[in-house]
Amino acid sequence: MMFDDLKGKKALITGASGGLGLHFAELLARRGALVTLSARRKQALDEACARIEAAGGSARTVQMDVTDSASVVAALAEVGTSFDILVNNAGISGAARALDLKEAEWDRVLDTNLKGVFVVAQAVARGMKAAGHGGAIVNIASILGHRVAGNLSAYATSKAGVIQLTRALALEWAREGIRVNALCPGYIETDINREFFSSEAGDQLVRRIPQRRLGKPEELDGALLLLASSAGSYITGSSIEVDGGHLVSSL
Ligand code: NAD
Repeated sequence: MMFDDLKGKKALITGASGGLGLHFAELLARRGALVTLSARRKQALDEACARIEAAGGSARTVQMDVTDSASVVAALAEVGTSFDILVNNAGISGAARALDLKEAEWDRVLDTNLKGVFVVAQAVARGMKAAGHGGAIVNIASILGHRVAGNLSAYATSKAGVIQLTRALALEWAREGIRVNALCPGYIETDINREFFSSEAGDQLVRRIPQRRLGKPEELDGALLLLASSAGSYITGSSIEVDGGHLVSSL
């Protein structure tokens, strides 16, 4: 089997208390990885961890706020830094018109989506280097890192930054055996956006996607596993779009 080499690998997933982060944690655990779920809400993490273990996986949790480097350092001091895989998933959208966007909200989005990705990647890469075994970092960006949409200036800017940061880290860390890639989802149906996508505005948006539907979380699995496993051993500095053709929609 193609992704068998994940067995026994240690994976850290940020923002794993729900949504895609939890989905990725469950996916990696099903493939035999020892997953560490991190997020700010410990209780939600512990419930998720219990479900993964009940399904036969191996999981543990740690509280971590990616906007706070002291929290990242404390979390890694608790669980160790010798990870093989990091999925930098934590992210927020912070929708607002650019004319109304408050400085604090800009900072919150950029601190979470861009600085957070760097801080966690740096701490984990230092551990990978010290352990001498290299590893794979998958940064969850977005198709909004390539194109724009109204009221999402901070989000789109942060995700473009994640794609460029991915390339910069891939260049520097290749010599350490660390691969760094970005996964750019299009619109994926999760609990958070289900209501919006059942509205008229949501429906209009879906009609602009060439495949005329939202993605399902499991449709990200192939790309995530490719980038996280040795199947992607010669892939670094890349970004993979999984978006039903949204980026090639007609202008
Ligand atoms: P979500 O809101 O369900 O999940 C985001 C997760 O990040 C939550 O677990 C939240 O607790 C965590 N988080 C937020 N701020 C944090 C912080 N400071 N420290 C630690 N954890 C924090 O959203 P989602 O749809 O699952 O999104 C996951 C990632 O995928 C995000 O980076 C998002 O930008 C990206 N993405 C999602 C979609 C989509 O359609 N759902 C599309 C493209 C990209």
